[in-house]
Amino acid sequence: MRIVVIGAGISGLSCAQYLVQQGYRVCVYEKENALGGLMRSYTQDGYLYDIGPHYAYHEFIKKIGLTDDEYVYIPFDYQVFVNGSFIKFPFGIMKYPRYVSSAIGVLFGNSIRNNTEGASFGAYIRRAFGDSIAQDIWLPLIRKWQGVDPEELSVDFADRKLPSISTRLMFNMVTSVLSGGRTFSFGNREKHFTHVYPRKGIQQVCHKICEGFKDCIYLDAPVEEINVKDNRVEAINVKGKEIPVDVLISAIPLPALSGLVRNTDVLEAYRRLRFRNTILLVFFIARNKVMRGVINWFPDKEFTFFRITEPKNAASFVAPQGKTIMEVEITCNEEDHVWRMPELVLCDLVQKQLCQVYQLNNEEIEYYRIHKVPFTSPTYLIGYDALRRNIRCPTGIKNLFLVGRAGQHRYLLIDESYEHARACAQEIIETGLTAETNGDEDRGTKML
Ligand SMILES: Cc1cc2nc3c(=O)[nH]c(=O)nc-3n(C[C@H](O)[C@H](O)[C@H](O)COP(=O)(O)OP(=O)(O)OC[C@H]3O[C@@H](n4cnc5c(N)ncnc54)[C@H](O)[C@@H]3O)c2cc1C
Repeated sequence: MRIVVIGAGISGLSCAQYLVQQGYRVCVYEKENALGGLMRSYTQDGYLYDIGPHYAYHEFIKKIGLTDDEYVYIPFDYQVFVNGSFIKFPFGIMKYPRYVSSAIGVLFGNSIRNNTEGASFGAYIRRAFGDSIAQDIWLPLIRKWQGVDPEELSVDFADRKLPSISTRLMFNMVTSVLSGGRTFSFGNREKHFTHVYPRKGIQQVCHKICEGFKDCIYLDAPVEEINVKDNRVEAINVKGKEIPVDVLISAIPLPALSGLVRNTDVLEAYRRLRFRNTILLVFFIARNKVMRGVINWFPDKEFTFFRITEPKNAASFVAPQGKTIMEVEITCNEEDHVWRMPELVLCDLVQKQLCQVYQLNNEEIEYYRIHKVPFTSPTYLIGYDALRRNIRCPTGIKNLFLVGRAGQHRYLLIDESYEHARACAQEIIETGLTAETNGDEDRGTKML
């Protein structure tokens, strides 16, 4: 039985781990020269950083087997830049009468989750936060981050799919305050909402997951073609070499997968699904500390970025003594001007904005690095609800299974990617593999 996984991000690896634990032999092909996907970590000159802030839940980190000395706890310390000043989130906003009245409006209004059927994510946010908080903070932030008006986003986005775990926590805390504690019980969920960071970077999570089967992972091995015959994958092509396949599991972005599949157009519709790309600019700075807080959010249009992280404020070992890093995130589409901008021009533009907001001197910025990362975030456009929800249905390619954040166009976080991919692997064993070994065609058609 030749089982192949494409993509060595956490989803592909978690799926492979489960199969290996059940006694199957699996090969994983990864196009980059390192594993981790969006959870790759980089080291340079004593610095350690990831693709944007990547913090995981304590519960999850323990579950995968990292020991207490292998991670640190991350403080909840986020600020939002509104009308020229930083406000500590979420409780800082309660100092502003305009936001308090917005909150009171929500308290006496409808229940947040009522009547969301058919509503947009924008409507959901206004109902959850009240008009002032929504207008000044959330709606512009989401517009910038997702690249569309929140009214065009599906309400599906609301369920555990806010901008990041940090935002999710903010959301829960704010809705808790606004609803008099009805929606969020810190006592019960404290453990779940405690964030930690591995001492060797977030990639350490992926290394831990594949500890027992590293020799089955091929790096620098892009899958370039998937050959389908009679609605079954027969072989994949990796750097010109044909590799026969009995079961194929894809964790790569759906539109990219669709482009690789030959002799069938059953995945063609998925090319329309929208994703945001991220440009990550990392500034290496000769100062011990620059920002207040770990993460700063910028809803205002005048800034090119939507989020800046100073990871040293959460974990001191990520930069040498007397130095720090700022990770600036810009989200965009491939056709956007900013994605094509020459690196130097973009860097100058961002550097000016940083100097203005944080009173930095140009001389303090020692150097920078840019990472352009496609398919970082699925965009839940209302018009694509049906298509997106159908991704779990059969595609017609009997031995091809889908997992992952971009692999299924689902806004999955780290722990969700892990759990979800393992659950998929279990289902593959129960359906796909049984069908493969028994020749039971019907059971083999079940997609995850
Ligand atoms: C900026 C940012 C910050 C985040 N912060 C957090 C956070 O704080 N907490 C949290 O819980 N989650 C966070 N997340 C989400 C988390 O990163 C994802 O849930 C997780 O990494 C998804 O993993 P995946 O394996 O599904 O996808 P990916 O990591 O995208 O893996 C797909 C893999 O497929 C490979 N691939 C693509 N094409 C091919 C090909 N043709 N052949 C072979 N290989 C191929 C890619 O190189 C990649 O390695 C964040 C995400 C982003 C973008």
